[in-house]
Amino acid sequence: MQICSVCRTTSPDDRFFCPKCNADLREFSENAQALQRMLANDRIKLINIAVADDACPACREIAGTYPKDQVPILPVPGCSHENGCFCRYQPVLDVLYP
Ligand SMILES: [Zn+2]
Ligand SMILES: [Zn+2]
Repeated sequence: MQICSVCRTTSPDDRFFCPKCNADLREFSENAQALQRMLANDRIKLINIAVADDACPACREIAGTYPKDQVPILPVPGCSHENGCFCRYQPVLDVLYP
């Protein structure tokens, strides 16, 4: 499931454009926007992919913490959950690793 950051409309993982406002979800989904903010923040050194409790095997596989240049793109390709991928980016702040 993708959420449009412009109009909050949800759409399936395989859509590239918001069905309501036509925003490009590869750039304007909430996950894509969150990732862009994290990549732009120098205090964030690592990015964690958090998966839902009932995540599918493909998402569990991808769960973990990544350097900024190796962060997988969400939604997870091949996600088999009936409602789509619920993975989220979470920032790992520098202060946690002094
Ligand atoms: Zn939209
Ligand atoms: Zn999944």
